[in-house]
Amino acid sequence: MKRPARPDLRSGLQEASSRGLFVNLEQAYQDLPATTCARRGACCGLLPPVFTVELAAWLHRLPATPYKERAAQARRLVEHFLGNAAQRRACPWALAEACAIYQDRFLGCRTYGLWSREAYQTRAAQAAQGQEAVAAAWRGLGVELPSEVLAPAPPYCLQVKPLTGPVPDDAFIEGLEERALELSRDLPQSLGRLHDFGGDISFAVAALALGQPQALSLKVAVTKALLAGDKEEAAELLAKAGTAAKRWAQSF
Ligand code: SF4
Repeated sequence: MKRPARPDLRSGLQEASSRGLFVNLEQAYQDLPATTCARRGACCGLLPPVFTVELAAWLHRLPATPYKERAAQARRLVEHFLGNAAQRRACPWALAEACAIYQDRFLGCRTYGLWSREAYQTRAAQAAQGQEAVAAAWRGLGVELPSEVLAPAPPYCLQVKPLTGPVPDDAFIEGLEERALELSRDLPQSLGRLHDFGGDISFAVAALALGQPQALSLKVAVTKALLAGDKEEAAELLAKAGTAAKRWAQSF
């Protein structure tokens, strides 16, 4: 199963780059202070949602990423997408006490710990509602998601400290999010498909590498196999998908 990168995707990413969208995204990142934290990666227990322009920026960087690393990232993301309804999985870029893509991490990673506690709680409540909707959709497929998957995110970190400048307030961070949304809206039409993944970069990579219907049906099959305790079946499905993901990334 080999799905070469589609030329319209490549040319769309090139056009977005030529129009300066990725440079503008980086400028938005740089408007935040550098930070330090005490928990060192403990908050990376979930893959954060990303803005569409961040997904596009990651795809645009992919060909410049060393061949093996590119394949490994794609495999980890696809495995994350296929397995995360049955098992709690950390962010695929999380290392022990570090992030494998720290310089390129996403806006959600950069602003975590900078929000006021109240603003974060509102967002956490919205995320919990979304999680309940996902659980209900799985119930419709006859699958009861395990409690480890539905458990709330780690408690909000209050130990993130800026190294440069003051702590930005909630309105400033919301302004940065609005900029990321605007840049996402400015993406070329040929990248319109990237808006369909709800900010889930693992879903996007699985759909691009395997085909969207195949990625979804494989996710159901892997989830059912894992929850039934059929580790052999799940490992076989994940291995095939991982091979397809690596080929996709290498041909990108
Ligand atoms: S991308 Fe990096 S900083 Fe963000 S959640 Fe993943 S490991 Fe943590």
